[in-house]
Amino acid sequence: MNTVAQNIRIIRQRMLQACLKAGRDPQEVKLLLATKTVSAERIKEAFACGEILIAENKVQELKEKYPALRDIRHCSHFIGHLQSNKVKDIVRCGVECVQSLDSLHLAEKLHQRLQEEGKTLEVLIQVNTSGENSKFGVAPERALELIYQVSKLDTLKVNGLMTIGALSEDEETVRSCFRLLKQIGFQAASAAIANVRMREFSMGMSGDLEWAIEEGATIIRVGSAVFGKRSAPLPVDAAR
Ligand SMILES: *Cc1c(COP(=O)(O)O)cnc(C)c1O
Repeated sequence: MNTVAQNIRIIRQRMLQACLKAGRDPQEVKLLLATKTVSAERIKEAFACGEILIAENKVQELKEKYPALRDIRHCSHFIGHLQSNKVKDIVRCGVECVQSLDSLHLAEKLHQRLQEEGKTLEVLIQVNTSGENSKFGVAPERALELIYQVSKLDTLKVNGLMTIGALSEDEETVRSCFRLLKQIGFQAASAAIANVRMREFSMGMSGDLEWAIEEGATIIRVGSAVFGKRSAPLPVDAAR
């Protein structure tokens, strides 16, 4: 079995190749490590390779690992379904961006908490581009409306969009999800909504990162290709 360091080298190489093929500057694409079920020790191995961007799916795991990681320079995002009663933990554990914002209700809960703490938070709007029932995310046709609503909450800084591609082997099916996310991003950008930026497109995982990069991803989220197959059950929206 490969080490974390070897796997990261392979992923970085895949990213570079995809950028070259797409004529994109490799600096434009960030590698986010999806660390669900991965121990703090193994996450530290990735930090030792120079990686700094990680994300959890579950608040419980975030809380468990935070004490072991907090003194090592890194950037923490959140990519799982977030229950509104867990919002305070997100703020406390130093999460810099919630990529999985998909409802006004959750946005209001975050806003309320952030106001109390005098803080702001970067968010991405998660869009269910595949239409699969098992996935979270706002429906594509309702995304713009949600972006407008969130823009009114001044503690939340909308910085782009996130999606999980269709669970399919078919290249066109998967790529059309990524293309749809970019289209929504163009619409939102041209609406020039105050307090909204469309800088980040978080899309692509271990199995489809090349397609995502070719379709304009700025953040790819990679778990199993770096840390190995997960033995624990997966969250329902990432079971692929
Ligand atoms: C687990 C997860 C990933 C990474 O998936 P892999 O196939 O292991 O690379 C990406 N995004 C989300 C939201 C996840 O939950």
